[in-house]
Amino acid sequence: MVNRDPSESVVEVTDLSRQFGSTMALDGISLRVQLGLVYGLVGANGAGKTTLIKHLLGSLRAKQGSVRVFGMDPVRNPVEVLRRIGYLSEDRDLPEWMRIDELMRLTAACHPNWDSDYGRELLATFGLDVSKQIQHLSKGMRAQTGLIAAVAHRPDLLLLDEPSTGLDAVVRRDILNEIIRAVADDGRTAIFSSHLLDEVELMSDYVFMMDEGKMVLEGSLDDIKAQHQQLSVRSSSDAPPPIEGILSAQRQGDTWSLVCNGASQSIHAALQEQGIEVIKSRYASLQEIFVARVGHDRHASRSETPVAEEA
Ligand code: ATP
Repeated sequence: MVNRDPSESVVEVTDLSRQFGSTMALDGISLRVQLGLVYGLVGANGAGKTTLIKHLLGSLRAKQGSVRVFGMDPVRNPVEVLRRIGYLSEDRDLPEWMRIDELMRLTAACHPNWDSDYGRELLATFGLDVSKQIQHLSKGMRAQTGLIAAVAHRPDLLLLDEPSTGLDAVVRRDILNEIIRAVADDGRTAIFSSHLLDEVELMSDYVFMMDEGKMVLEGSLDDIKAQHQQLSVRSSSDAPPPIEGILSAQRQGDTWSLVCNGASQSIHAALQEQGIEVIKSRYASLQEIFVARVGHDRHASRSETPVAEEA
């Protein structure tokens, strides 16, 4: 465990907006990130995730609003901020002419905290041939190489933009999860963006859900889960049950499938008051919450994780 001031703010974004032509890529985003947690940044394609990450890195300057990383403006203090960040870009822009071992040596030279044992361990875990040139790597191997370069200097803040792209399901679920979890267990912070809701549900402590540049929902994963129910209820009415908190409702015969915002107990009580029979009830998956809140599932993938039935 790294000894740091727990009151230190890792990231503080205040009312950040960014427009590209007529596109509002970010629209009044405010958020805070604490030490020792894994943050999942969720959104469909074009939601603004990469634009937000680029502001944290200082590769985009905040034109409206402010960005602080470790209390500093990343544009004004690039050296101090970037030496504490490990970053995997969405397009894995690695030096094509280098071999993997050369890239590792270069990255180690730039980061005094480079942990050679950890780097070697990860190379072995992925089974990467370090003599291979980056231009000859497969998509998955590039993601693995970029990931090692981002994490092996044990950064205070690990920023991963769509880390799963190109990785197979087992690597995603087991190795990626373990790498990200180790960062938080060590008292450091990880932020990763993803449109794979099942993965975010598996790996995150805290979730930021974005859509079209806006923050549509944020909270600890436990709180978000506890506040969203998926229910099947019996009702032959043409209209959804008249209770508060319904985010989405779909009818099949005399059964309505609902995603509701609210505590399980109060939703059950409201349905009982209306004399509506509950057939099944469980916490909604993040995928179901996302579709219900954003109103579509444009490019979000289907959840592969079965959600346990609520007792
Ligand atoms: P994805 O999951 O597809 O990577 P994202 O959530 O990361 O999407 P961004 O890449 O941040 O989304 O893009 C948000 C919006 O801003 C999109 O409509 C995108 O087309 C637009 N955008 C981003 N960068 C630029 C740019 N440099 N010039 C013009 N438009 C841009």
